[in-house]
This record gives sequence, structure tokens and C-alpha cells, in this order.
Amino acid sequence: MSNRYSRQQLFRPIGEKGQEMLKQKHVLIVGVGALGSASAEALARAGVGKLTLVDRDYVEWSNLQRQQLYTEQDAEEKLPKAIAAQNRLQAINSSIEVKGYVFDAFSEPFAELLKDVDVILDATDNFDVRYLINDLSQKYCIPWIYGSCVGSYGATYTIFPGKTPCLRCLQKVITNTGLTCDTVGIISPAVQITAAYQVAEALKILVGDEEALRKTYLFFDVWKNQHYEIDVEKMQNEDCPSCGMHPTFPFLSYESQTKLEVLCGRDAVQIRPASPVAYSLDELSKRLKTFGKVQKNPFLISCQMENVRVVIFKDGRVMIHGIQEIEKAKSIYYRLLG
Ligand SMILES: [Zn+2]
Repeated sequence: MSNRYSRQQLFRPIGEKGQEMLKQKHVLIVGVGALGSASAEALARAGVGKLTLVDRDYVEWSNLQRQQLYTEQDAEEKLPKAIAAQNRLQAINSSIEVKGYVFDAFSEPFAELLKDVDVILDATDNFDVRYLINDLSQKYCIPWIYGSCVGSYGATYTIFPGKTPCLRCLQKVITNTGLTCDTVGIISPAVQITAAYQVAEALKILVGDEEALRKTYLFFDVWKNQHYEIDVEKMQNEDCPSCGMHPTFPFLSYESQTKLEVLCGRDAVQIRPASPVAYSLDELSKRLKTFGKVQKNPFLISCQMENVRVVIFKDGRVMIHGIQEIEKAKSIYYRLLG
């Protein structure tokens, strides 16, 4: 046990002092899919004292090719990623604190998780959540590290409130291409490289070596052997609603707006009730048996109907797989739960 971190401590910029600092730090990882799995594992092994994980999804077979924390059994049981990841990380390092939360970043309790967070890692797959993180980061003055990858390429940028432009300032550089892993696929090296850059930046922040932070927006394609960095230091906009002189944090009031959303490229619709609902999964499973084949674990119920699969989470969120039309989703929702 005593020399667990010896090689990391030998690395001068961290040293014994840095290692002690890592033990006191708290990292919030938003999304534990591919990027989140990779960065959470690296940070757990590095000895970061507290990791908080937030993810709304559960493990599926198509995740196993690149989401390194998960096993076939997790996919078989449809275990929520936040829970499966927590279990795995705790087995990797029992001396740190790991807590997984199964909800959407737009759910109310999300902002409460930010208390004493030192850095936020973006491991999500959508821009709405990134703009939410961006506003929260500015409001509470917590640095965050943007990361995205699809196909064979990835991109990352470190946002430090008061010191760098924010995501919104970089709208022209960091655009939503609309491409997703479900439409153009993804290979794991693209994930590993993006996560590696994010973790390196996180470690620099956690040990207080801000001088070493990369100031550029970085983009690479590991298949086409490309690597670009864009200097964005001068792109901060004084009128930016997130980081400008008079911020309004537009995404912090966004919460009440999205109740039904088509999940990006996933052939699924998510429905989030306007106010939190707490279902008794036992009662619900009895009821759903009349509609299709029901599978249940302590966190969710899945009901396989003829053409769609409906997954109901304990917090009231419902995912309907197999359709993209909101109206159809609504009618299924009310038929099953209304
Ligand atoms: Zn800004």
C-alpha cells in the first residue's frame, strides 16, 4: 500500500506534495460513457480523493467496445453506468471516495453536487449539458475541461473562469457538428487520447500547476494523423452571457424547458417529468407486465414491447427506444404511466 503512488510522486511536477493535494481534491465527471470511464479510471488510480459521477444511462452491449469500466454482466443486468462505474472504481482504489448518481444533468440535484468540486470533466455527448456546465462553472468559479470525440477524432479545451474564454465565447471554433457515435461510429483510441489530455489538464489544476495548462483548443484525428491547436486566448467576449461583464447564465434557467427530448442520434426519446416522481419499481413492474416483457434491477425497469423498449428510472425519467417522434413517445408514456 505504502508505495502505491511512488512512480507518480517521482514525477517532479507532482511529487509528494502534489500527491497529498490530490488526496484532498474532488472531481466531478459528467457522463460515464467512453470518455468518463477512461478519465474516471485514470483519476481513481492517480489517487484523487473524491470522485463524483453523474450519468443518466445504463450499460448496453454496444458500449463494451470502448467504455472500459464495464463488463458483460453490467450490460446483461442493464446496470446504470453511474452505479457500475462506482463499483468498479471502488474495486480499483478502495482508499478514495466514489459516488455515482443516476440522473440527468438538468435534474435539480445536479447543482448541489458542485459543492467543493475542484474541477469538472465534461464526458457528455451533448451540447445542452456542456452549456449548462459552462454556466455553472462561471457562476461557481470552478474550472472545467471540455472533451468530445467521435469517429477517429477528438477535441479538448480547458476553461478556467476569469482566466480563459468560456465555451460560449468559442462558439465559432467549437461547433456542434451533429455527428455522434451512433451515426458515424467511434474507435477507442480517439476516446483514450481525448481522455488522456483531459486527465493531464485535470492533474495540473489539482496540484496547482496552472502555468502548465494548455491554453489552446486542441483537435486531432488519430486515423488521418492530424493534430491542430488553435490559439483562442483573445476570443473572450465582454458581452458573453456566461463569462462577460453582466452574466445571465442562460442555461441555468433552461431546466424547466426540456421535458421531452429526442436523444441525439440514438433512436430514442427521453421524457423527464416536470417535477420529480418517485416510482415504486415493484408496483410498476407488475403493471408493465401486461404491456410486454419486463426486466428489473434496483435502479430501473425495462419493458420490451412490440416495437419499442421503454426504460423507466426510479427518479421518474423514461427513455423510449425505437422511436424519434415526440408525439408517439408521449402517447406511449401516458398509456404506460398516465
Ligand atoms: Zn464566454
